[in-house]
Amino acid sequence: MPKIYQLPPSVINKIAAGEVIERPASVVKELMENSVDAGSTRIDVAVEQGGLQLIRVSDNGCGITPDDLPLAIASHATSKIRDADDLFRVGTLGFRGEALASIAEISQFLLRSRTHDGPAGAQLEVAGGHNQGISPCGCPAGTTIEVRNLFYNTPVRRKFLRSTQTEMGHIGEAFTRIALAHPQLHFTLRHNDREVHDLPPVSDMRERIAALFGADIARDLIPVASSDGDVHLAGHVANPTHSRANNRMQYLLLNGRAIRDRSLQHALGEAYRGLLLTGRFPIAFLRIDMPADLVDVNVHPTKLEVRFQEAGQLYSQLLGTLRTKFLSTDLTARLQPTADDDVALAHDRQKTDQLRQELVSWAKGQLSTMQPATTSSPVGVVDEYDPLSKPVSQTRIDLPYAPRPHAPLEIVKLDRSWQAAGPEEEDAELAVAEADAAVRDMEHSGSVPVAAAVMAASGVAALQVHNRYLIAESEEGVVVIDQHALHERILYEQLREKVLSGKLESQRLLVPEAVDLSPAEAAAVMDSRDVLAQLGVTIEPFGGDTVLVSSYPAMLANISPVQVLRDLVDRLLSGGKLPDRRDLLDELLHMISCKAAIKAGDRLSPEEISALLEQRHLAQDTHHCPHGRPTALVFTREELDRQFKRT
Ligand code: ADP
Ligand code: MG
Repeated sequence: MPKIYQLPPSVINKIAAGEVIERPASVVKELMENSVDAGSTRIDVAVEQGGLQLIRVSDNGCGITPDDLPLAIASHATSKIRDADDLFRVGTLGFRGEALASIAEISQFLLRSRTHDGPAGAQLEVAGGHNQGISPCGCPAGTTIEVRNLFYNTPVRRKFLRSTQTEMGHIGEAFTRIALAHPQLHFTLRHNDREVHDLPPVSDMRERIAALFGADIARDLIPVASSDGDVHLAGHVANPTHSRANNRMQYLLLNGRAIRDRSLQHALGEAYRGLLLTGRFPIAFLRIDMPADLVDVNVHPTKLEVRFQEAGQLYSQLLGTLRTKFLSTDLTARLQPTADDDVALAHDRQKTDQLRQELVSWAKGQLSTMQPATTSSPVGVVDEYDPLSKPVSQTRIDLPYAPRPHAPLEIVKLDRSWQAAGPEEEDAELAVAEADAAVRDMEHSGSVPVAAAVMAASGVAALQVHNRYLIAESEEGVVVIDQHALHERILYEQLREKVLSGKLESQRLLVPEAVDLSPAEAAAVMDSRDVLAQLGVTIEPFGGDTVLVSSYPAMLANISPVQVLRDLVDRLLSGGKLPDRRDLLDELLHMISCKAAIKAGDRLSPEEISALLEQRHLAQDTHHCPHGRPTALVFTREELDRQFKRT
């Protein structure tokens, strides 16, 4: 029979530390939050070697009396709540009394503090959880905490850490969240003696956004505000001209605390429905302020997630506020090209802008006919929502002029190998179910696989319809080719071969382009410099979070380098953790070929059509575009005969 032991406090603390302190950025977050809770007006953060060597946070807050110092680092000791009832009206960022105890357990820890009316300061040293004693010291009013050699006594945890750049990226993100939530406070961040941010106090969140994310985004922000009883929503959302490939630029600040909330993120996506292309995410900086008893912040060790009492109502409020705002905002006016746009790109831009304007007017039409969400539905909606899930209807075609009015002709998954090819296939069960459905559909519709037929269509001139599909006769029947998907696949194959054989043409820019990034983005880019170089994109550091693009692939000549880099960055960050090198390269190849390929909507000349069809044979696998969608569908003659009731 195994014997049961009570664990010693040091082990308990290490376990607790594992929950709260995942990486250096967690320390920065906890210390900064303590400084905010202490009523500080200025908070300075200094970091060395991505926080592994040193993290120092100094503030001018209320300070700690020498008598209280031992308690500050004791676990479950806090000045912020007293009893269980307080848990339901937490007005501070901290309340668990765990952070300092956890940090001191796994680092060399030094705390210096003096209260404003205290005669002298005192300092407390702890090494790996062992209190080294308290001694008087001279120091300004406020608190300074130094954390050295984080994880030095928990080597497993240390092993999981990534490069200095990446860890610094996370620190920058933690810093950004807190600085954004408290624009009235002065924050600074230094890394290895280099100033990363100096954010003087400002009265408006918009100015803080500009200081953190650059003037580009700040200029195109749309202010929003609404109140529903005691629940106040205020902040800024970006004009649809700005968007991201993931939802990292959606800052939700609940009572001064940055949170993640799938339901609210979903509401944001809904509000922008039709205004952004699929796969793009809105940018938002939103404060939600509500009485503390309407939300439970004690559901997650780092309080990143919370539970709202009236989640449905909040969802509706957010969605309704944005929709109403968009209806009264002239989104199209902001979509005009700006004065400093490159002349060479003007023509392209004009075309894109025209398309965008059409999209916006269409979306506005849609918005005005939509009912605001009801309070009862959102929870169910959200549970099923997964931004990564693949639209199931990708290969389904609804013909509006179907022969039978009540049963539109549906051509279904003709070849289901794409099911396995999907790069982001996450849910195996779903895949199996879809595959089964596809087989049933195929049996039902009598369709056949594409492969042979696509090849047979060679040399046949094709008809372009709706500027996006090419229709050609094949031996078996009719082939419908998705011009973008096919071109993308061909480029992907060519590009991959060139990259693998080191023969990719890269073009040096006469004037390197500077790109302002967020700290996390800059870190990811610097980390992936060599992979990017393999793709012909040369990146150089340029101080702060700005990088220079000094050369980039010749085949992307007509797309702006800034745009290319921004999209690459989105890709780099969209996986959560950095994918391994090969996956990354492959991902980026997909992205570049997608960018360089002709688009749906591009009118093609007969020569271009022939060239595209000819090149089809150059690619190894032209049946599917790199995203796993089919590039061509075949309608067999038998199928047509059957549908037209000839057989
Ligand atoms: P919590 O923040 O959940 O109370 P912590 O372990 O983070 O727990 O901090 C423990 C206590 O130490 C706090 O409740 C607070 O009284 C004190 N403290 C920590 N940091 C500071 C600071 N920068 N200024 C003043 N007091 C602080
Ligand atoms: Mg705390």
